[in-house]
Amino acid sequence: MTKPSHKRRPPEALDLSTRRLERAAPREMSLAPLVRQMLAALGEDVERDGLRETPTRVDEALKWLTRGYTASVEEVVAGAVFEERHDSMVVVRDIETYSLCEHHLLPFFGKAHVAYLPKGKILGLSKIPRIVDLFARRLQVQERMTDEIADAIMRVLDPLGVGVVIEAYHLCMMMRGVEKQHSKCVTSALRGAFREDHKTRDEFLRLAHGGSWLE
Ligand code: ZN
Repeated sequence: MTKPSHKRRPPEALDLSTRRLERAAPREMSLAPLVRQMLAALGEDVERDGLRETPTRVDEALKWLTRGYTASVEEVVAGAVFEERHDSMVVVRDIETYSLCEHHLLPFFGKAHVAYLPKGKILGLSKIPRIVDLFARRLQVQERMTDEIADAIMRVLDPLGVGVVIEAYHLCMMMRGVEKQHSKCVTSALRGAFREDHKTRDEFLRLAHGGSWLE
């Protein structure tokens, strides 16, 4: 299924390096006392064996799962933008993606497919999954994450265009509420030639959707 797209923020509103600095500071604080309170509020005995170390483990796990706040796109791509005359579409598909929905703090997971059309510069291939991870490892909605990845690549590479498709399952849909276990949410963000040139767009969407693991 496709969710209605949220209104996209203009790329200039996404000051990614500032976002990092704003977010980095309060992460020193331990979440363990809050987790202990939460467990008690759920009716649990926080002193029983299985739960005694849980607050510390949840603190560590949540910080790891949101580590995308502690880096910027510039840091991730540093030294991996190369001058190159390659002018065909570069596609990295089936990038495993794990994120947390900001509405329920429950995981959503699936695959991202990312492509760009170079304009004199290419990006080290391993950097594309790292850019996906940078945004996935924050509290997210899938729609915004898709846009952020596309805008970040436009910004660091200034290519002729970028396409991002993400297909994901949301545990907040599967485990609670509507309990629709097989609903897959598909979002896309198309920039430049991927938006304006139907041949480029069709080629990308065919590559992105063809033989998906989720079919
Ligand atoms: Zn949710």
